[in-house]
Amino acid sequence: MISRYRFAPSPTGHLHIGGARTALYNYLLAKKTGGVFILRIEDTDRERSTQEYVDSILSAMDWLGLKYDEGPFYQSERSKVYQAKLEELLKTGKAYRCFCTAEEIQNKREAAMKAGLKPKYDGTCRLLDPHQTKNDPRPYCIRFKSPETGETLVQDLIRGEVSFANAELDDLIIARTDGSPTYNFVVVVDDVENQITHVIRGDDHLNNTPRQIQLYEALHYPVPQFAHLPMILGPDKKRLSKRHGATSVLAYQEAGYLPQALLNYLVRLGWSYGDEEIFSLNKLEKIFDLKNVGKSAAVFNTEKLLWLNGYWIRQLKAKELLEAAMPFLKKLNLEIKDSNYAQQALASCQEKVKTLVELAEMAKFYFVEKVEADPKAKEKTINPESLKILEELKSLLESLADFKKENLETHFKRFAENKNLKLGKIAQPLRFALTGSLVSPGIYDMLEILGKDQSLKRIQNALG
Ligand code: GLU
Repeated sequence: MISRYRFAPSPTGHLHIGGARTALYNYLLAKKTGGVFILRIEDTDRERSTQEYVDSILSAMDWLGLKYDEGPFYQSERSKVYQAKLEELLKTGKAYRCFCTAEEIQNKREAAMKAGLKPKYDGTCRLLDPHQTKNDPRPYCIRFKSPETGETLVQDLIRGEVSFANAELDDLIIARTDGSPTYNFVVVVDDVENQITHVIRGDDHLNNTPRQIQLYEALHYPVPQFAHLPMILGPDKKRLSKRHGATSVLAYQEAGYLPQALLNYLVRLGWSYGDEEIFSLNKLEKIFDLKNVGKSAAVFNTEKLLWLNGYWIRQLKAKELLEAAMPFLKKLNLEIKDSNYAQQALASCQEKVKTLVELAEMAKFYFVEKVEADPKAKEKTINPESLKILEELKSLLESLADFKKENLETHFKRFAENKNLKLGKIAQPLRFALTGSLVSPGIYDMLEILGKDQSLKRIQNALG
């Protein structure tokens, strides 16, 4: 049988780190097993779901490169199917109409709590005759008749067997008073419709699983396999949330992270493969396995993500680097006229940066007519002595026909020796003249890429 996996986000927010990891694991398992990966947008909550979030989730999936084989399916388009299934459960006596008002339920809850009992629904309407309730004009919701005794076992691929006492679960509302079906119910109907064989999701859903298993059974559906992924915590060991900084995939995209880095980072949040740390999506598609997913929560570590991002930036070919950096160069209003030049310029910064934002900022000086002088850098580097060196350096550079970095290096070394100067004494004021700052690529690289005319022009500007 072909395995079928799904990622089922609710469009009530942007795709966040935890959701992206769930999507990734499902995607990888589908690839690894020759199965199918399905995207389903769970927009039953009409009030909180928005088109903006749908678009944002789709664009994040696209950016991450997690291609789905089927979908996106939308729950909002399937109300007829849900209604038919609700009818079926009512007909077979597996569900019932409940006429208790919100106020009555509240009173019962309070009474139960006072008596030291769990505030669960007391089953008042469970015993009503369905033939009579059918024509009752009062508003009602539909409740699922949960088994009252025994236990429901969840066979979890990560946690093993988890058992839930049925007495603890009250009769779940599966359709609200306005007729709209509720979350746990539609998930089951959809997972069956999508012929899902494996439900892999965050462990915040573990408590829903016994209820969903009961619904599968009531509808005579085969129960899929389940795996609940361990939580992701912030550095303070509390569940990862906005308090810990950026949690949406989009925010990382905007902060100059590469999808390769984020995926590499996400996969390790809960999964390990010996002591290897570097994984491409391609490699993961062949080796990923739930067996190596641990039970304990994973701690989100932005330092490590940053490190991986630096690593993946360094792996890019010049053309890819330019493509990746382009949106960030544009944000700085830089005009890229010559892509060859831009590729060389960016490549000269590649080893020194950890994000594409840093890359664009470092490379900016290559693309401006006049560099922006950082006053602190100026104060540090420009003085009568360094101006004199710059003046002499200018004459040297003017005399050179070959502006390749090897030749430049040879002449610079000779120049420093002759003057009995440390190379830094020459490099720092020159760096400032060429870039306006002290954080930059290597000076020979810069000179060669900027070229003779542009380099001399910048030195002349610094000389005043
Ligand atoms: N829509 C749910 C969520 O976004 C996921 C449901 C599931 O995976 O079963 O949390």
